Amino acid sequence: MVIFKHIADLRSHLKQQRENNIKIGFIPTMGALHAGHISLLERAKTDGVFSVCSIFLNPTQFNDKKDLEKYPVSTDNDISLLITAGCDVLFLPSTQEMYPDGEQAVKAYDFGYLDNILEGEKRKGHFKGVGQIVGRLLEVVEPDQLYLGQKDYQQCMVITKLKELMGLNALNIVICATTREADGLAMSSRNKRLTEPQRVLAGTIYQCLVSILTKQESGNFGVIQKECWDLLTAKGFLPEYIALADARDLTPLNEYRKDTPMVALIAAKIGEIRLIDNMLLDQN
Ligand code: AMP
Repeated sequence: MVIFKHIADLRSHLKQQRENNIKIGFIPTMGALHAGHISLLERAKTDGVFSVCSIFLNPTQFNDKKDLEKYPVSTDNDISLLITAGCDVLFLPSTQEMYPDGEQAVKAYDFGYLDNILEGEKRKGHFKGVGQIVGRLLEVVEPDQLYLGQKDYQQCMVITKLKELMGLNALNIVICATTREADGLAMSSRNKRLTEPQRVLAGTIYQCLVSILTKQESGNFGVIQKECWDLLTAKGFLPEYIALADARDLTPLNEYRKDTPMVALIAAKIGEIRLIDNMLLDQN
């Protein structure tokens, strides 16, 4: 694996690949890598593209600066994981490299209502930051394929909108299923910050999503939503939302709908740690 810290060096390496008609697959990350990140890389390898991972802890997408300060950093371990998984290139830029003229100078995009609901509502400015960094990285890497995790469902929608706003018609976005722990907890870099008792309780979010899925035939969403809210609260969580939405565009739904692809989404804090997860309701 070749590691680049500078845009110019990365771009000249990627230019050579393109000249040899090799397609480029890009996996942007913030580091503290786990099996979920690696599953995106594995998908890229299966697709036969030249794999480029980036690790950049983007300050502009952290609405809560304490969350940024406490975000786990494990670059040496990340590098070993990527080498073992067969990554071709790691891009590891500094903040200066990504924002040479300051954060404000980077183009911001308007994601419309996506910025005002769910994560957008709870984390003001978060998607503006995501748009800035992913936009910048897409300009630098110019990938053919972009690999994203369904774990961050709304982010996938925001980046799909970003692709449209940037006019990247040829870019193919590949959304990969969420990798989970044995108890169903969605893998996340933030899980490393959970205490042992919090970790035991954290699987409750998945249990709630499963109950929203399995009770859809018999149930009334409002009732199930309240059951889940009460269960999470009883276990010491502070739920932020338990929502049902149209899976195509995240339009909020108050009730289950037979004719609509649906997704259930949960955000809840346990102690200082904020966890999010989601589930498509058409799966078994
Ligand atoms: P992050 O480092 O949290 O910015 O995540 C980088 C990419 O990995 C994003 O596209 C995430 O959606 C994806 N990702 C994070 N956790 C998981 C997971 N458990 N399963 C699959 N993809 C994930």
